[in-house]
Amino acid sequence: MPLDPNESYPRLTTLYNRIILNLIRDVLLCIAFNIVEVTNIQELRLTKQRGVVLGVIRDAHEHLTANEVFERSRALLPSISFATVYNSLRYLKEINQIAEIQFGNGASRFDRMTHRHDHAICNDCGKLVDIDLPHPPELVKRAAKLSKFKPQSLEFTLRGQCPECVNKLKN
Ligand SMILES: [Zn+2]
Ligand SMILES: [Zn+2]
Repeated sequence: MPLDPNESYPRLTTLYNRIILNLIRDVLLCIAFNIVEVTNIQELRLTKQRGVVLGVIRDAHEHLTANEVFERSRALLPSISFATVYNSLRYLKEINQIAEIQFGNGASRFDRMTHRHDHAICNDCGKLVDIDLPHPPELVKRAAKLSKFKPQSLEFTLRGQCPECVNKLKN
């Protein structure tokens, strides 16, 4: 793309070019900062309770259970009930602001990252962290072929010991 401002600017400001450039910028921003998840809580016009619940999940670096979300929400808004927290979680999941994840028989946990990503889970303390691991398309194809499923998503769970638990064993 030519960078001479006199030469290129008038052409770039045509509506079509502007839309394309904005789109490219937005996609790049999304990739860089996970903008999908950081839509302003105000912009979503949530009730006070739902806003608090979403804030709690976004501020948490762990993946909280409904009970943990309730405890943290109550610290901010003492009048909130467990039923309201539970309904808010369902609503926020429906509008794609949070994701619900489940491992084995454990309680559901709530995730601020709604795009596809992988997790590492500690076998000792249950700590769960996000990992962004690009999957080669070939792997999805092979998994689909082996299962005879029409694939929609593929997720990995790394199980092992978190750094804190490894350190505890050393001491
Ligand atoms: Zn651990
Ligand atoms: Zn996650």
